[in-house]
Amino acid sequence: MAKHRAQRGNLFVISGPSGTGKGTICKEILNICDLKLSVSMTTRNPREGEQNGRDYFFVTKEQFEENIANGNLLEYANVYGNMYGTPKDAVIRQLERGKNVLLEIDVQGALKVKKAMDEAILIFLLPPSMEILRERLSGRGTDSEEAIERRSQEALNEIRLLGEYDYYVVNDDLTEAVSEVSAIILAEGRKVPDKVKPIIREYE
Ligand code: ADP
Ligand code: 5GP
Repeated sequence: MAKHRAQRGNLFVISGPSGTGKGTICKEILNICDLKLSVSMTTRNPREGEQNGRDYFFVTKEQFEENIANGNLLEYANVYGNMYGTPKDAVIRQLERGKNVLLEIDVQGALKVKKAMDEAILIFLLPPSMEILRERLSGRGTDSEEAIERRSQEALNEIRLLGEYDYYVVNDDLTEAVSEVSAIILAEGRKVPDKVKPIIREYE
């Protein structure tokens, strides 16, 4: 039976330290799960190949502040010097249409989402070890030695917040980690909802 139309979608938040593999895993998850990825707003410059509206909404600091002042963001945070935020209306609209929504955001942002929307399901992505995290950060080739050191120190502070999360997945073998995240998404979608009448009615 397909998900009943009247049923609200689930809000999933994947976060974890920079370099753990959030971006890599979310890309795979979007191919296998029925989810809409929320497109964040940021003040950072686009990287090569990134498209406005697809990867991010790239805005100026003034535009970002205007969005904060107008209450348009579900959460926002300063991540390593740039502002990032989740546009609220798009997320709410998708959930109300019964679509599952995925946010790929930093740890501070994830905790703010949980405060604003208790229904949010938080998944913490852990690296297999701090050593491997450093290797991934340097292998990615986007950070200086100094940035890698700063990010791995911050990683430990973030890992200390694990207790606030609902699930954790260790990203050691990529295929296994993807299958664990998709198992969480599927299982959450099969929880018996508060309103069961619409489901039962399909059999009457
Ligand atoms: P994040 O989005 O959390 O900052 P990325 O998705 O950019 O992390 O991944 C960081 C680096 O680690 C990338 O170079 C990516 O290819 C690599 N990576 C991700 N997952 C794995 C994995 N399971 N095994 C080995 N390398 C991985
Ligand atoms: P990047 O600049 O590499 O695309 O992203 C840097 C960090 O910002 C990543 O950890 C990413 O998860 C986080 N991020 C992306 N969008 C948002 C957002 O809307 N809110 C918050 N809080 N963090 C975000």
